[in-house]
Amino acid sequence: MRTPIIAGNWKMNKTIVETKAFLDEIKDFAVDGVEAVLCVPYTDLAIVKENIGDYIKIGSQNIHWAETGAFTGEISPLMLKELRVEYAIIGHSERREMFGETDETVNKRVHAAFKHGITPIVCVGEKLEEREAGKTKEIVKKQTIAAIKDLASEQVKQLVIAYEPIWAIGTGKSSTAEDANEVIGFIRQVIADQYDQQVANEVRVQYGGSVKPENISTYLNQPEIDGALVGGASLDPTSFKSLVEGGK
Ligand code: PGA
Repeated sequence: MRTPIIAGNWKMNKTIVETKAFLDEIKDFAVDGVEAVLCVPYTDLAIVKENIGDYIKIGSQNIHWAETGAFTGEISPLMLKELRVEYAIIGHSERREMFGETDETVNKRVHAAFKHGITPIVCVGEKLEEREAGKTKEIVKKQTIAAIKDLASEQVKQLVIAYEPIWAIGTGKSSTAEDANEVIGFIRQVIADQYDQQVANEVRVQYGGSVKPENISTYLNQPEIDGALVGGASLDPTSFKSLVEGGK
């Protein structure tokens, strides 16, 4: 059985003061059998570490492959480890589209994360024109294979993948639960073909794109969907709590 995982992706939102107010609202919150993660801006990581219990895991929104060096604006796995970061979003479509992230750099970041004991949340997903051209599976297959290149099967088993159709992110247009389930089942098949079925059965695959407290259960009720990566609706503490409860 795969444990459901609900991750909030705050993107470039919330100052330290705003983060403190959010954390005050989720003190002592926990839901049995559901893993919850908050992927916050770098400037909020320390405050989250100091003000959160063991239940909610801390995530970053990126991770560099080098430990130190001349990489202006990047973040090292060593820096993240000191802040008790356990997850790192890698290859989010906003990074692929606006900041030059490629399949190759995604793979380098994934290897670095595992080397330092941080679990990658690798994002894959097609653009609207790719979906309309019937290329969804081709795109997610290419992105998935590239992201997991040269990983050991024990690492792949721990991986989290987020299937996020780009046209559904922040648009209010979510994929139907059935469509998302089909693509996620296909991603699992791609992993089975690269490794084996047992490895594929352990990988957790989330859906992301306009998930809200009102629609999360329709996704989580699908057999292949193991959780959600949530942007906008994770910014409000009440909404974040409902999302995690929806993971049950
Ligand atoms: P959204 O973002 O929930 O605001 O659509 C999801 C994401 O980009 O991870």
